Amino acid sequence: MSQIAQQINTIKSQLPDHVTLVAVSKTKPVADLMEAYNAGQRIFGENKIQEMTDKWEEMPKDIQWHMIGHVQTNKVKFMAEYVSLIHGVDSLKLLQEINKQAQKHNRVIDCLLQIYIAEEESKFGLDEEELSDILNSDELKSMNNIKIVGLMGMATFTDNHNQIKKEFDNLKSIFDKNCHLKTENCQLNTLSMGMSGDYKLAIECGSTMVRIGSSIFGTR
Ligand SMILES: *Cc1c(COP(=O)(O)O)cnc(C)c1O
Repeated sequence: MSQIAQQINTIKSQLPDHVTLVAVSKTKPVADLMEAYNAGQRIFGENKIQEMTDKWEEMPKDIQWHMIGHVQTNKVKFMAEYVSLIHGVDSLKLLQEINKQAQKHNRVIDCLLQIYIAEEESKFGLDEEELSDILNSDELKSMNNIKIVGLMGMATFTDNHNQIKKEFDNLKSIFDKNCHLKTENCQLNTLSMGMSGDYKLAIECGSTMVRIGSSIFGTR
């Protein structure tokens, strides 16, 4: 069995049933993704739209492609035909564009709203107030081609276990506070948090979706 297949199997055997594995394949060649595919993996995460689209064109059509990177509004159109979940949505304007492009393909695109939980200027995301502004906006109610299915966050890049735990706990509490909302196009079920270095902790803190790259495919 290939190294990649072994890693997939090992990680999957550690995940509780309610946790979904996104295999983060950015920068990796299609041959590597196919090893994961042949080991049964069907959900792949990419952070560049062009690269994801190239891989989508080349690879089997039963793969679910997740966009995990920051999305520029003018590039949404390139993935609207096929993307299965967009993790990093951080504005109403971006939601409106996703809605518009999804409509052209007669689809409903699932989205996660990205929440800013780290102590790093470089990371994207909404604060609690901006989140509630979006969830309660009239604009959202009129978007029939998107569905907000959960939240996503990235912890600070640090070895400090306590800090990461604090940030994950914070995201989980924001998630819990907004779980009661149930509308046509909004129902928070998915909490996307945890990467190679911190996914076990993320699951302890309530994650339902982990995004794992280097532990499967090796360092980038
Ligand atoms: C690259 C990336 C990951 C995966 O990181 P690893 O440390 O390689 O597991 C997860 N989430 C996002 C948003 C990423 O950009």
